[in-house]
Amino acid sequence: MLLRLFSHPVFRPTGSCPICGGMAFEQRTVLWSELIAEWQLTNDEVAYIERQQGHICVACQSNLRSRTLAAALLDYFGFTGNLREFCMASRQARSFRLLELNEAGSLSSWLSHFRRHTLASYPEVDMQALPYHSESWEIILHSDVLEHVPNPLQGLRECHRILVTGGVLIYTIPIVFGRLTRTRQGLTPSHHGAPGQSQQDWMVQTEYGADFWRQPIEAGFKKISIFTLDGPESLALVCEK
Ligand SMILES: [Zn+2]
Repeated sequence: MLLRLFSHPVFRPTGSCPICGGMAFEQRTVLWSELIAEWQLTNDEVAYIERQQGHICVACQSNLRSRTLAAALLDYFGFTGNLREFCMASRQARSFRLLELNEAGSLSSWLSHFRRHTLASYPEVDMQALPYHSESWEIILHSDVLEHVPNPLQGLRECHRILVTGGVLIYTIPIVFGRLTRTRQGLTPSHHGAPGQSQQDWMVQTEYGADFWRQPIEAGFKKISIFTLDGPESLALVCEK
């Protein structure tokens, strides 16, 4: 585990946005009928995915997924303020070698404050063959990326390889809890992003289910924690090497 650097006096008010501190939220509709049919989602599943992806902080526009990822990162470091305060808090905090694989929701603009932050995006960088030395990063973040990777286990193995011992991978994936993980190979192509989206990058390769924890363990991580900001629809995996 990395050093926990803070016993910081800043406290985040209950219910506030862990990215900007905002207190006002609104719900927007994000799913569309074709996607709901392709994924064979029940009404309950539609409701929690809508909340995960469409419950927005009015001030910084971060959805619940992004806010959960930010809160998991802050929790890992034992920091009790918000991400904005974390980025300003300490030069040492910002000196971690932090790799962001594809823009991690709305965290990206804040993560760029880390002096040793790198944003690596597909297709220039493929998670299945990361162009970095082993044991060269302390933190890796990705958010709703893994379901688009053709071989997600290989992607996680690569994340594990390039982390230092004691480093951490924190990520989110969409999960349908009532069933097991399945590959979409052989099924009708399904794309995230927007209705009518057909770019290959957005194609969903894996639908994660209740056994979502298996892959990071198979990839070599020794300790997997589940972090929630606000209920089961708000979930981040914290994987320590
Ligand atoms: Zn916010």
